Amino acid sequence: MRLATVGTTLLRLCFPPRCVGCGTRLPAHARFEMVCERCFALIPRHRWLTCPVCRARIPVILEARPQGSPRSRLSPGSPLVETKVDMSTSDSLAFHRGLSVVGCPSASLGMVSSSNHRLPRCHPEARFVLAAASDFRNQTVRELIHALKYRPAHRVALPLATLLAEYIAGLAATLPPGILPLIPVPLHPRRERERGWNQAAVLARTLAGFCPGRFEVRDDVLRRIRYTEPQVSFRDRVWRAANISGSFACASETLPLGPIAVLIDDVSTTGATLGEAARVLRHAGVRTVIGLVVASA
Ligand SMILES: [Zn+2]
Ligand SMILES: [Zn+2]
Repeated sequence: MRLATVGTTLLRLCFPPRCVGCGTRLPAHARFEMVCERCFALIPRHRWLTCPVCRARIPVILEARPQGSPRSRLSPGSPLVETKVDMSTSDSLAFHRGLSVVGCPSASLGMVSSSNHRLPRCHPEARFVLAAASDFRNQTVRELIHALKYRPAHRVALPLATLLAEYIAGLAATLPPGILPLIPVPLHPRRERERGWNQAAVLARTLAGFCPGRFEVRDDVLRRIRYTEPQVSFRDRVWRAANISGSFACASETLPLGPIAVLIDDVSTTGATLGEAARVLRHAGVRTVIGLVVASA
């Protein structure tokens, strides 16, 4: 047993970890080191994408099967895939608006025909579509995200990556098939040295490990070229956008990336950081950027 492992075991024996949600002591065999099963189960789970401009919910496609598959109930002549859209979370108008926003080619979503693009009313200027697994108002989520920023343990990322993996599984038929590039929002090298790690990269690697064959972590794509004040220093949306403007660059040797890329970060508040990173990716030829975060505020 390595010395560090012995130390950790001794620490756990003397100071059993407590749940960040309710404060109860966690048993030695607990699935997560940071949160009890009850608090983890109580974390709200989103089943939708979001327009980052007007915050309209974009319901996800729950099922998509090739026609003729045993469970297909489609009549002859219907589209190639069977789809079931979860309308409980929004109205169909917002759904189609959202698709117009992300500009997903119909082929990649399976069900979107060109006729659905007749409703280009929902913010075509949006640079990405927000994919938030949960809600930042939930205290447990906030505590877990906080821990990931200020504690270097990789296992701190486990409950958050589990949330993301559950969310991604729910989006399965909405996302295009195949391996998607998963791009952590980078920190400036100076800030990464100060902190010791990039929490977005930790999340990306843990999530990719949970979803084999789904994501390829690409931390070589984006660079932070300007050292900025932390976004939390600014409450105002306009100030946040100004603070982050011009902060990212795309490494030309990593191109082309393909039509769709997934940006990943821990939190999205005003969407300024994801929007600026997405702007650079789109400038580099990516058509659709999905901004995946654990929680949105
Ligand atoms: Zn708890
Ligand atoms: Zn919108």
